[in-house]
Amino acid sequence: MIDPSLIIVWFRQDLRLADNPALHSACSDQKTILPVYILDDENAGAHGMGGASRVWLHHALEDLNKNLGGKLWLAKGDPKKIILDLAKQTGARRVYWNRCYEYWRIRRDRKIKEELVDYNIEGRSFNGSLLWEPWNIKKFDGTPYKVFTPYYRKGCLSSDPPRTPLPTPKNIECYKPKNGLSVFDLDLLPKRQGYWTERIVKPWDISEKGAHKRLKVFLEEGLQDYKDGRNFPAKENVSRLSPYLHFGQISPHTAWHEAQARAAAPGYEHGADCFMSELGWREFSYSMLYHFPSLPWENLQPRFNSFPWVSQQSKKLEAWKRGQTGYPIVDAAMRELWQTGYMHNRCRMIVGSFLVKHLLTHWHRGAEWFWDCLFDADLANNSASWQWIAGCGADAAPYFRIFNPVTQGEKFDPDGEYVRTYVPELQNLPDKYLHKPWEAPQDVLDQADITLGQTYPNPIVDHKAARDKALKAFEQTKKTD
Ligand SMILES: Cc1cc2nc3c(=O)[nH]c(=O)nc-3n(C[C@H](O)[C@H](O)[C@H](O)COP(=O)(O)OP(=O)(O)OC[C@H]3O[C@@H](n4cnc5c(N)ncnc54)[C@H](O)[C@@H]3O)c2cc1C
Repeated sequence: MIDPSLIIVWFRQDLRLADNPALHSACSDQKTILPVYILDDENAGAHGMGGASRVWLHHALEDLNKNLGGKLWLAKGDPKKIILDLAKQTGARRVYWNRCYEYWRIRRDRKIKEELVDYNIEGRSFNGSLLWEPWNIKKFDGTPYKVFTPYYRKGCLSSDPPRTPLPTPKNIECYKPKNGLSVFDLDLLPKRQGYWTERIVKPWDISEKGAHKRLKVFLEEGLQDYKDGRNFPAKENVSRLSPYLHFGQISPHTAWHEAQARAAAPGYEHGADCFMSELGWREFSYSMLYHFPSLPWENLQPRFNSFPWVSQQSKKLEAWKRGQTGYPIVDAAMRELWQTGYMHNRCRMIVGSFLVKHLLTHWHRGAEWFWDCLFDADLANNSASWQWIAGCGADAAPYFRIFNPVTQGEKFDPDGEYVRTYVPELQNLPDKYLHKPWEAPQDVLDQADITLGQTYPNPIVDHKAARDKALKAFEQTKKTD
């Protein structure tokens, strides 16, 4: 079919029909659209998707395809060539997409736009993923904000409010050329199917409908006490929307406006305010990545370039990855990550601090493991958060603030529900010793059926000694200022 009025709608990090500006515009401008997704491993370089993200993407694409009546045209390779070929094949003169903000995608999309112009094809981009465009939120002197509070309060909240969500277009008519791939052809699932792939998706409904259901449940059950409850990993006060937001199965605009609508109800104001400011942190990370594209690999504070990271300690790094450090809250969190593709924010901070400060391991190693294991692995949020944890970021936690994994556990998992869920071998240990099993008397360990060093590891580092060492290392970087 050759149809110059056809519009190619290129789906990327916006795998949804509701509040999708590119799709909405295409459906308003034209009767028939050609919906496309292209798996691009060619331009991503070091930041190609990790294992867990691929599993999520597989299911998200199946859902999007279903919602489009099986008409999603799929391909893998370099989008520049694929889109131009598709436009030539179908005669389409317009290509619409929602913007992405990673350095490699910006570079790629610019080239594509230029090439489309050469062929007299219109390439139109929209904002489907951010509440505020990074180039619109700047300080009076025109430079980007580097500190969250003024960025959010003076920058975002004083500028135009986020637009209200757009409705799902009615009766979307799609044309699908024959030469596309199936979702399975994209090879997103691991070759060895089995325990991990099946177990990791179990807690999730990876669909656009699932995203809206999550938001609804959160607004009803989590939002009111979000401000305090969000610190306790066993509580149901966080939204768990991060993978849906990353893949665009729900827009931040929808989450923002729904939370704002609740803010007026008695008792909801603080929870809603706090949740909206967390969405603001997401915006801040994106703004940082946009203005400082080397965020994923370069310390924002150059003094950390001379930090004496330990280079060889694969055994300890491995123990951290596998949840075998001997610190129950750290181990529970690392196992939550492995088993569910998600980790609670409080725990991300605890395990991040443990890796960087107790083990003096470069934050890159932590970011890489998260990148591979998180369903919500996101170049902006992951890079900005790891820099924040390491102390080398823009608005970072000071390096000398070193989390004590025992007191963090006691404070935020006081009755041990979280630890007992993910570290079942400590199930029968009384609360008093749960976060420090090495202090339990022998008869208590015997009764709980625990043999330290065998059924559960001894701590791989001593907290106090590790803390002193980290502070000394930090002093060294200060001297090189
Ligand atoms: C070391 C480390 C690595 C991280 N890596 C990622 C990552 O790869 N992808 C990711 O989405 N988040 C990351 N975060 C941020 C945060 O932990 C998650 O966004 C949050 O835990 C997701 O859970 P939720 O959806 O239940 O959050 P909620 O508390 O319900 O928050 C709602 C939304 O706000 C945003 N948000 C919340 N907290 C933050 C934050 N601190 N920074 C930026 N955005 C935030 C997220 O989009 C989140 O979905 C990381 C944090 C740390 C400390």
